[in-house]
Amino acid sequence: MPGSYTSAWKTESVRAVYDLASAFVSSELLPNREKWEAQHHVDRDVWLRAADLGLLCCSIPEQYGGGGGTIAHDLAVCEAQARAGETSWGNMVHSGIVAHYLLAYGTEDQKRRWLPRLAAGEMIGAIAMTEPGTGSDLQGIRTRAVRDGEAYVIDGAKTFISNGHLADLVLVVARTDPARGVKGISLIVVETADCPGFVRGRILEKVGQHGADTAEFSFERTRVPADHLLGGVEGQGFAQLMNQLPQERLLISVLAVAGMEAAMEQTVDYVKQRQAFGQTIWDFQNTKFTLAEGATATRIARVFLDSCVDLHLEGRLDTATAAMAKWWLTEQQVTLIDECVQLHGGYGYMREYPIARMYQDARVQKIYGGANEVMKDLVARSL
Ligand SMILES: Cc1cc2nc3c(=O)[nH]c(=O)nc-3n(C[C@H](O)[C@H](O)[C@H](O)COP(=O)(O)OP(=O)(O)OC[C@H]3O[C@@H](n4cnc5c(N)ncnc54)[C@H](O)[C@@H]3O)c2cc1C
Repeated sequence: MPGSYTSAWKTESVRAVYDLASAFVSSELLPNREKWEAQHHVDRDVWLRAADLGLLCCSIPEQYGGGGGTIAHDLAVCEAQARAGETSWGNMVHSGIVAHYLLAYGTEDQKRRWLPRLAAGEMIGAIAMTEPGTGSDLQGIRTRAVRDGEAYVIDGAKTFISNGHLADLVLVVARTDPARGVKGISLIVVETADCPGFVRGRILEKVGQHGADTAEFSFERTRVPADHLLGGVEGQGFAQLMNQLPQERLLISVLAVAGMEAAMEQTVDYVKQRQAFGQTIWDFQNTKFTLAEGATATRIARVFLDSCVDLHLEGRLDTATAAMAKWWLTEQQVTLIDECVQLHGGYGYMREYPIARMYQDARVQKIYGGANEVMKDLVARSL
């Protein structure tokens, strides 16, 4: 990419984490990709190796076993993975989302009990909001958690859960008081090991991101200790979700921009060596214009993303701005990658070419973390 633009949030220590994560992706993730795509999940030991290198929970304070950095360090790990086109390892959900719910809302006892185990890779985290009957409309969730003495009894079903097949710790969004609407929603921590009534369903077959495990759960009178209620107070779940979702959307935005940068790099290289009609594909004016537009869109995307990261580091990233980033950047990503596939011709449709995988993997970016239409709704509400 032209010019000497650098992201202000990529300080020396953030760049060091990025370099470490890039090396980890190259040596530990990419060589296993075929196997993981076939089995639809990564091997558990990859989490332990990532933990040994300090790549899990980088922004969780050291007193809870984390790296003691800022969210920029976690973003750097996600960006390194996305830049390499690797989508199997579900660290974004684990370190960027689940650990942060525990840090922000957990009681001291909850933080001490679970954060060190997440940071050590001994437990893999997931968050279960979506249900077969409702995704965008979180107010419509039907999973119930009923207090019964010193336990909650959970009944319900969840679907599309990232890290679902391997998850040891699941933040379950459930209704603790159906009469109170959104004020009756709570988050309950389910430890899946030896948990009676917790049923892990099949790993779902997706259009892309084949190595990422995405699974269904059902809860059949699942009993969890009452002190697994996140934060210890019922009815806080909806507010907890609304406060954390901007960070989730920022993480998705990082994947989008890193994906655009990777697609541009792959495509410029490809068109400059592929020949047609006695010249390279690059020599057609259409190619140059398409890639000039792509480079411009990618730079604008990067600058906007970086401003959102800076705002978030200052604690000022609001819901509407995060929604703008999520919808617009993922839209740009999908559009650009489609054009890059076109410039690859038939090879762009072959999975042995990175751009083909990017094409498959990118599509869901417009759907998860809140569908882009829902993002626009959030933006509109702020106008
Ligand atoms: C690969 C993958 C991983 C996922 N990981 C997780 C996870 O870890 N945890 C989790 O809880 N969920 C997860 N999800 C679920 C994801 O967040 C939902 O799929 C998403 O929020 C959309 O919900 P839905 O699928 O029920 O679509 P629906 O809510 O049925 O919406 C369908 C479509 O309707 C339109 N629509 C909906 N609402 C509006 C509106 N207000 N205005 C205009 N149009 C609208 C949009 O076009 C939308 O795409 C994952 C999904 C996928 C595919």
